[in-house]
Amino acid sequence: MTLTPVQLTRPASTTDAFLRQLVARVPGGSPWHLTEVYTGQLLVELPQSTPDDIEQAFAKSRAAQRKWAATPVRERLAVFKRAHTIFVDNARTVTDLIQVESGKNRLMAIEESCDPPMVMSHYLKRAAKLLAPTRRGGPVPMLTSSTEIRQPKGVVGIIAPWNFPFATGISDAIPALMAGNGVVLKPDNKTALSPLYGVQMLEEAGLPEGLFQVVCGEGPDVGPTLIDNADYVMFTGSTATGKVIGERAGRNLIGCCLELGGKNPMIVLADADIADAVRGAIFGAFGNTGQICMHIERIYLPESRYDEFKTAYLRKTRDLDVRAAYEFGPEMGSLVSVDHMRRVKSHVDDAVAKGATVLCGGRPRPDLGPAFFEPTILEGVTKDMLCGVTETFGPVVALHKYRTVDEAVELANDTDYGLNASVWGSDIAAARAVAARIESGNVNINDILATAYAAKGTPSGGVKNSGVGARHGDQGLLKYTDVQNMAVLKKQVMGPRPGQDPDKYVTSMLSGLKMMRRFRIR
Ligand code: NAD
Repeated sequence: MTLTPVQLTRPASTTDAFLRQLVARVPGGSPWHLTEVYTGQLLVELPQSTPDDIEQAFAKSRAAQRKWAATPVRERLAVFKRAHTIFVDNARTVTDLIQVESGKNRLMAIEESCDPPMVMSHYLKRAAKLLAPTRRGGPVPMLTSSTEIRQPKGVVGIIAPWNFPFATGISDAIPALMAGNGVVLKPDNKTALSPLYGVQMLEEAGLPEGLFQVVCGEGPDVGPTLIDNADYVMFTGSTATGKVIGERAGRNLIGCCLELGGKNPMIVLADADIADAVRGAIFGAFGNTGQICMHIERIYLPESRYDEFKTAYLRKTRDLDVRAAYEFGPEMGSLVSVDHMRRVKSHVDDAVAKGATVLCGGRPRPDLGPAFFEPTILEGVTKDMLCGVTETFGPVVALHKYRTVDEAVELANDTDYGLNASVWGSDIAAARAVAARIESGNVNINDILATAYAAKGTPSGGVKNSGVGARHGDQGLLKYTDVQNMAVLKKQVMGPRPGQDPDKYVTSMLSGLKMMRRFRIR
């Protein structure tokens, strides 16, 4: 591992004036100190929104939304065609903001900046079709019709986490806006800058002012008012918070999509290419400093390949370039905050106290930055340990042996979570058969997560305690709409004719049912 502390100069784009201009759109007072992760220095004072501010934000968005919903879909989509170019042209500035606020390494930050353009690109192809009225058959052929009409929900509340602030804050808003909704976003305080810049770029592309509001504050302070004013809630964050959000949305009888945590397994099959699997496991455990919801925290290896994998994995992990830098180079950056680093450390300490072995890493690295923690590989993790059952959400992974594939599947499924899994093997058909048995919303074969997550045409969500609903795919846009079933009866043919014997009516109705089934009319 390279352990060179660096002299840091903040990226040139992140001037004080620019940061102050970004936060100026957040309503509120009593500011929160938003700090640079690598140094702990103040970046900007972030206003904290009161319940009144949040209600006003909804009122402004709702007023703009009425006009926006009445704007033809083609014109709404034209905004996102322009936005795609603006987002790609400014990807480096987005990357600077993501880095200063989250401490992730530059490669990961620029990859994150690409997510909203990918989502725009997908829905620019698909949204017009999804939002067009769809003619369905009515109950009586020729004389009746039913049309499925998609209406926007109104104003969508989005609550986003700090680990992918730009992707979750902006990408999840795109299909909501395309569908004709307004949005009120609450990013995490720590990482409000990149989503605020995203809103600014959308407005540059022509999004009506006022439609997309941003409010800030601690979750429990802002959450209740936000949910009580929203027509739908899109939440990404921990399972514990997701339960609170889901409960309140349920009480308000509004829909919600909950994208929550994971304890994601990787199964290496006996015929896997070990070099590839090791490379995958490096990204799987340490990419984004282990703070990806779909990342890997448990690796299951066949006894026959365990030592080979372990040796290569340890060697590569020890060689990782871990440090703070605003240029490309480091393979792993910082954790998001000192508090989070302490939580990760507590998982490792608990595991060691209960008998686990640290094969490498295991310590904070204050010499690299206040929230750095070493990439850590554990052995002997059991279910009585915190990191044996709950999400650690840091660069900590446990190696396990299995004897049979059935045992590997059983161990992978032995969790309350079901967000992502990764299966590695040369025989793709055999790997698919294993993948199909894993209780998980996403399963990647010979990859960790990117193949599934970047497939924007396929819904991506969690099962079990990892979530409700999904983003991406048709449902990633349709969830932000209500269905209006507009039905037309052209002639009064429903029910018995005046004076018709009820028995005859029933007989003809029943034979009509049989006939329509037989000729596949209805
Ligand atoms: P968190 O649940 O603590 O916070 C997420 C967001 O919810 C933040 O904006 C926070 O301020 C807000 N919040 C907290 N309490 C709230 C409340 N009572 N009411 C309303 N809002 C509240 O999660 P986190 O620590 O910020 O993020 C990490 C978690 O997010 C991990 O568990 C990770 O797996 C998960 N995550 C999931 C996905 C996914 O797509 N499934 C993606 C990214 C992150």
